[in-house]
Amino acid sequence: MAYRTDIDKPQRRWLKWTGVAALMVFFAYGSAFVRILFLDFPGASASSPKATPPVLEVPPVFDAGPKPDGGSLDAGPAPIPLPVRVALHVHTSVSDGRGTVRDIAEAARATKTDVVWLTDHDVTEGDDRVENGVLFLHGAEQTTKFGHLLVFGADRLLTKAERYSDPLSAARSVHGLAGPAHGDRTSYVGWANSGQFDALEIYNLATDAIRAASFPWTGIAWAALAYPANALYALSSIMESPDELLRRWDGASVDRDVVGFCGTDAHGIPSYAVALGAVTNYFFVDAPLTGDVSKDRDQLRAALRAGRLICALEVFGDARGVTVFAVGGTGRVEVGGTAHRPATLHVRGGGANVAGTILRDGEVVHRFDGDTAYRALDKGRYRVELSRRVPTFWGSRVAPWVFANPITVR
Ligand SMILES: [Zn+2]
Ligand SMILES: [Zn+2]
Repeated sequence: MAYRTDIDKPQRRWLKWTGVAALMVFFAYGSAFVRILFLDFPGASASSPKATPPVLEVPPVFDAGPKPDGGSLDAGPAPIPLPVRVALHVHTSVSDGRGTVRDIAEAARATKTDVVWLTDHDVTEGDDRVENGVLFLHGAEQTTKFGHLLVFGADRLLTKAERYSDPLSAARSVHGLAGPAHGDRTSYVGWANSGQFDALEIYNLATDAIRAASFPWTGIAWAALAYPANALYALSSIMESPDELLRRWDGASVDRDVVGFCGTDAHGIPSYAVALGAVTNYFFVDAPLTGDVSKDRDQLRAALRAGRLICALEVFGDARGVTVFAVGGTGRVEVGGTAHRPATLHVRGGGANVAGTILRDGEVVHRFDGDTAYRALDKGRYRVELSRRVPTFWGSRVAPWVFANPITVR
């Protein structure tokens, strides 16, 4: 051990303390890793392939509570709409994503996603089709003079000239439903001044990742350390309520219908399964999907256009059983619809640890725990937000969970 004698005393001390520090870091990370590994986190079961779909647990329309105010039951209850899980805003290797349709189909099956609506950048490839039991539809994320625009259900892509002149009118002219992507990231001013987008991405997973990765980097550092132990927990640790976008949504909804939806913006990093497991939407359709692509597409396009959907940060809990509807003068009305006074707003399927708010034209008018039935006496646009208390490494926190499209009361 002759070489050891060359090390003087201060160096030896330095080596010793570096070793001790390294061991402490190793054990701290090891024990944190084990804790995160076993964290009883809702998202883990929400996207586990073993979870049974709670479709049949949705309570019947008129099972409990008082008869609908002023409503007539003569026509019989309308069919209870079925939730279809739809991932919106997904990229493949046709643009800057890492996976093929086949790869994404596997991730969709693992997360019980029924439909994936692809949105590659200014390009589409292949037809709408069913792959491995998952319906794939083609929209696009179009680069425009204002920023990225998500277009669903259009007859064709917008041309470059259209994208740089009047993208929203152009999208309408080809029957597309267009909504600014990640409207809190790019300049929103252009969209706001245009005053005519029909949809808005009210949550974007990539936006949260970018925020967590900005100085002082603690958010992304924590997520990176936790990722190997529990990928969904790691992702959830950077997910926050999109308050700014919700305000913009309410602001834009004052004089027209604006459909709110959540975007996964999945590119394959983190994996498609993790992204699709974390953020999704439930569309409400009257008939189950048939596997007939054009029929199913028509039904889903109509639901999207009508705002007949809720957006769910599924990582915080399985939202398939959540329903929001109104019972008014003309019977049951789903989200996105119009009810006539007097109307009662119902929120069901929240369950334990769930707190909710009802907002009318952007102002909170009612707070509740679990489920609620709220008499909407005033005209306006009523929408529901649900949050959940979820376990975290440090204890627990209230996490954003569900954002429902508004029901208009007239
Ligand atoms: Zn984008
Ligand atoms: Zn994107």
